[in-house]
Amino acid sequence: MEYYPCPICKEPEKMLLRYPNMVCSNCLQSGIWADKEQTQQIQFMNTEFSGGFTSIINNNYVKQHTCYIKGHECYADEARFGGIIIQCFDNDQFTDVRLEDKQPRKIRKISNNHSE
Ligand SMILES: [Zn+2]
Repeated sequence: MEYYPCPICKEPEKMLLRYPNMVCSNCLQSGIWADKEQTQQIQFMNTEFSGGFTSIINNNYVKQHTCYIKGHECYADEARFGGIIIQCFDNDQFTDVRLEDKQPRKIRKISNNHSE
């Protein structure tokens, strides 16, 4: 475990190394939205005990990975060992953050890279 700044609020939080762009729990509690206008909430869950991914919008099961938190586009997916992980790559300022090993943090834009 190492501390990484949350991609949205910049508060350092313990993040799994595998997911350095994880959104912190405070931001997750602020609301997760299916649309950029933040009118429709979305929930994510595993489809099986061992994993799988589904999302729920308005009691409908969909497989939408994209969500919005505090106006930032985020990407939800099943975590490697179960559970759901939500990451945010939608922040240009984030490229200036340097990790403890002095390597500049690489940023990946997620838009249009994922086909359903
Ligand atoms: Zn945060």
